[in-house]
Amino acid sequence: MVDLKSQYVKIKQEIDAGIQEVLDSTVFIKGGKVNDFQRHLEEYLGVKHVIPVGNGTDALQISLMALGLQPGDEVITPTFTFIATAEVVALLGLTPVLVDVDPATFCLSLSEVEKAITPKTKAIVPVHLFGQNADMEPLLALAERHGLYVVEDACQSIGAVYTFSDGRKVKSGCMGHFGCTSFFPSKNLGCYGDGGAIFTNSDELYAKARCIANHGMEVRYYHDRVGVNSRLDAIQAAVLDVKLRYLDEYIRSRQRAAAYYDEALRDLPGVKIPSRRGNTSHVFHQYTLCLDPSIDRDSLRKKLEEKGVPAMIYYPVPLHLQKAYRSDRYQDGAFPVAERLAASVLSLPMHTELDDEQLAYIVGSIRECVSI
Ligand SMILES: *Cc1c(COP(=O)(O)O)cnc(C)c1O
Repeated sequence: MVDLKSQYVKIKQEIDAGIQEVLDSTVFIKGGKVNDFQRHLEEYLGVKHVIPVGNGTDALQISLMALGLQPGDEVITPTFTFIATAEVVALLGLTPVLVDVDPATFCLSLSEVEKAITPKTKAIVPVHLFGQNADMEPLLALAERHGLYVVEDACQSIGAVYTFSDGRKVKSGCMGHFGCTSFFPSKNLGCYGDGGAIFTNSDELYAKARCIANHGMEVRYYHDRVGVNSRLDAIQAAVLDVKLRYLDEYIRSRQRAAAYYDEALRDLPGVKIPSRRGNTSHVFHQYTLCLDPSIDRDSLRKKLEEKGVPAMIYYPVPLHLQKAYRSDRYQDGAFPVAERLAASVLSLPMHTELDDEQLAYIVGSIRECVSI
C-alpha cells in the first residue's frame, strides 16, 4: 500500500545528515530542529502558528481542550472516518454527535450537520477524508451562524488547497479555529515514528494550546491549567524538515498515480472512481473505489492478493456501529450512506513511488479480477 523504503533511499543523505546533526547536538527534545521545522511548516501552510505535538490524536485532543468545552457539550463529527476524532471527544467527557457523510466525497454532509445542531452543540470537527477538503466555506458559515468552533481533522490532507468563492486559496487545516495533522509514517507528510501538529491563526488559541501541550505550564513549574505532555521530538523534526521540502513533489506523484487509476478504471463496470470537488485539490492520501453490490469485495481482495496487489478497506465499520461508541441515539441503518460505503469501499496502493509499470500491473490485475 505504501513504499517508504524507496522514498527514503532517494533522500537518504539529507535525512541521515539531519538525524546525525540531532545526535551530535544531543538536543533531543525541543531545540533548534523542532523550531526550524515549525517555522518552515508555518511558511508552507501560510498559517500564523504551528504547534508540533506527539501525534495527530493528541493534536485533536489538545485543540478541543483549548476551546474550554464543558462535559456534556456536543461535538459534531462524521461517522465514516478513523476513530481518533470521536475518541478524543469521548475522552474529554464531551458528547460525540455523529453525522452521515456525502456519498460522493466521503466527507461530512452539510445538511446532516445542520440537522444535528442543538443548543448543546459547541464544535464541529470535519475530517478531510482521504486527502480532499470537506466543503469548508458553507460549513464555516453555518458554524458562525450558530457560534460554533471548527476544528479540522487534516491528518490525511496536508497540502490540499481549498478555494473560497472570492478566490482566496487556503491550505487544509488553516480554515477553522484549529487544524490538526498527523505525521504517522504512512501519512502524506510522514516521519519515522509518531508526530503531529496543531495549526491556528488565532494568537489566543495558540497560547492556550501550546500551554496545554506542555503540562499547562507557561513559566517552568508553574501550572496554570490542566495540561498534557505531548511533543514532537527533534529526530522526527529533522526527518520532517527534509521531507517538507519534497511535499509538493510527493503530492504531485500521488495525483499522477490517481490520474492513471482514473483513466484506466473509469469505464470498468461496477467500479466507481473517486469524485473530485471543483473548489479543492485532492492530495490522495488514499485512492478509494466504491464497488457495486454485484462485485464481491472479499473475493476481489483475495484474488488481488494472490497477484501481489494489496487493497485495503478504509473503514470497514462506521463509528456509530463500533462497540465502544454504540448509543441509543443511533440504530443500525441510522446513517445509510456511511453504512453503504463501509460495505463497498476499496482503497488501492497509493504512495509517492508508484511507477507506470506498477500502475499498469495493478490496474491490469483489477480489470482481470473484476471480470472473472
Ligand atoms: C491518522 C489519523 C489520525 C490520528 O493520527 P495519529 O498520529 O495516528 O494519532 C486522526 N484522524 C485521521 C483522519 C487520521 O487519518
